[in-house]
Amino acid sequence: MEGAYVLLIKLSEKISLNYKGSEYELRDGLYIYVGSAIGYKNAIEKRVARHIRKDKKVFWHVDRITSIPQSEVLGFFVIMSHDKIECDVSQRLFKSGNLSVPLPRFGASDCKLGCPAHFYYCENHTYTECIRFLSDVLLKLNKPVLFCRPIDNAFSCKIINRTNAKKLNQD
Ligand SMILES: [Zn+2]
Repeated sequence: MEGAYVLLIKLSEKISLNYKGSEYELRDGLYIYVGSAIGYKNAIEKRVARHIRKDKKVFWHVDRITSIPQSEVLGFFVIMSHDKIECDVSQRLFKSGNLSVPLPRFGASDCKLGCPAHFYYCENHTYTECIRFLSDVLLKLNKPVLFCRPIDNAFSCKIINRTNAKKLNQD
């Protein structure tokens, strides 16, 4: 698969993080990270496998979150596209009003389109509410959208639409 992806990351407890010389506190709860992987075979599968792996060299901003034991990638959305649409996705999600920016510009260092960040806190606290809100916004892009969960060392993915998006939490 290639395109943009939205990772759902759970922090089991609050953490503090030194970022750009300041100390920030991140609440426990759900966070999302928007990225893209295009131009090579299994681009998204490889990228997300890296996000999930704890043992890695910290390279991207988000690695600082995904490499710590208090974080867990619960699942991710894929928006299939041959183009780099991560900023469009990020801005649409942010404009929906359900997200806050814990760390300004975090994950968005090479973003040229002025996103506040590519990493957000999901103000809808439950997992169900958060994935419902995400699927609502993502389906409006009119591109194929999948929801995937990591299972063992693979991913279980399914195409979502307006009907089954409502039941994503139930299976
Ligand atoms: Zn951006």
